[in-house]
Amino acid sequence: MKPASFVYHRPATLDEALALLADHGGDAKPLAGGQSLIPAMNFRLARPAILIDLDRVRELAFMSAGPDGLRLGAMTRQRDVERSPLAARAAPLLHETLPFIAHPQIRNRGTIGGSLAHADPAAELPAVALALDARLHLKRRDGARWIPAAEFFTGLFATALTPEELLVEVAVPAPPARTGWAFEEVARRHGDYALVGVAAAVTLDSQGRCERVRLALLSVGEGPVLAARAAARLVGETPTADLVRAAADAAATSDIDPPGDIHASPAYRRQLAAVLTRRALTRAFERARGGRQEPR
Ligand SMILES: Cc1cc2nc3c(=O)[nH]c(=O)nc-3n(C[C@H](O)[C@H](O)[C@H](O)COP(=O)(O)OP(=O)(O)OC[C@H]3O[C@@H](n4cnc5c(N)ncnc54)[C@H](O)[C@@H]3O)c2cc1C
Repeated sequence: MKPASFVYHRPATLDEALALLADHGGDAKPLAGGQSLIPAMNFRLARPAILIDLDRVRELAFMSAGPDGLRLGAMTRQRDVERSPLAARAAPLLHETLPFIAHPQIRNRGTIGGSLAHADPAAELPAVALALDARLHLKRRDGARWIPAAEFFTGLFATALTPEELLVEVAVPAPPARTGWAFEEVARRHGDYALVGVAAAVTLDSQGRCERVRLALLSVGEGPVLAARAAARLVGETPTADLVRAAADAAATSDIDPPGDIHASPAYRRQLAAVLTRRALTRAFERARGGRQEPR
C-alpha cells in the first residue's frame, strides 16, 4: 500500500513549521511519529497534499517538572515519558498508562502530541489528559492560546486545532496532597486498542472525604468522556465500597452512551465500564489514603 503523492517539508524550527502551516493551511498536515497518519495515508483515508515533518523541530521535544507540574513538548516520544522517573513522580497516572498504548516499537516513534491531536476515541492519552485536567498550548504563526483538555476534544477524531495551528505543549498540573490515581482497560490482546478504558484521579480531604474526582473513559463515545455524574456521587462523601460501586454504576448507565461494533456490543461496553470504573476508583482511593503507592 502506498500513499497518494504529497510534497514533503522538513522544517528545523517551530517558526518554520508554523510559517509552512500558515502558508498551506488545510492542504498540509503535520507529521509527528507517523504511527497513525502514515497508515491512514497508506489506506488513502488521509490524502494531505503537503506533509510538514516535525521530527527535526527539537524545541518541541522536552520534558520538565516544577512545582506547577509536568510540561511536555508535543514531539516528546511516548516511550521517553514511559521511561522517565521525572514523569513517574510528577504525573504518575500518565506514567502508569503509557505501557497500555500499542507496543514498544510504536511508542518509540509515537508522540504525546500526535496521540492527542489524532483524538482517537479509543486512545488512552486523550482520556488521561481529561482526567488530569491537562492544559494544551496551541500555536499558529500569529498567535497562541492555552485551552483545557475538556475543550480540546470536540468529537470523533476532531479537536479544537485549526488547520494553521500546532499543538506545541501539554501542561499537567501537579497533583494535590492525598491524591490517588489508577488506569484500567480491557483489550482483546495486550497492545490492541481498548474495548473500554478508565482513567481516575481522586483527592481526599484531611478527614478522608472525597474532595475531587476526575474520571475519564475511552472507547465509549466519540471522544474521551468525563464521567461527571459518577464524580458527583462521590464528592463530599467518605468513599466506601458501596459508594464506589454506585458511582461506577452511574458512570456506566448515565455518563456514557457507548457504541456497538464488531468487537463489543453497547451492553458489554457498559458492563466493562462499570467493572473497570469500580476497580480504578478502588485503587485510586487506596493510593490517596497512602495505602498503595507502587506502580503495578
Ligand atoms: C499497530 C498500532 C497499534 C496502535 N495502538 C494504539 C493504542 O492501543 N492506543 C493508542 O492510543 N494509540 C495506538 N496507536 C497509535 C499510536 O499511539 C500513535 O503514535 C498516535 O496515535 C499518534 O501519534 P504520532 O506521533 O504517531 O502522530 P502522527 O501519526 O504523526 O499524527 C497523528 C495526527 O495528529 C496530527 N498531529 C501530530 N502532531 C501534531 C501537532 N503537534 N500539532 C497538530 N497536529 C498534530 C497529524 O497531522 C495527524 O493528523 C497504534 C498505532 C499502531 C500503528
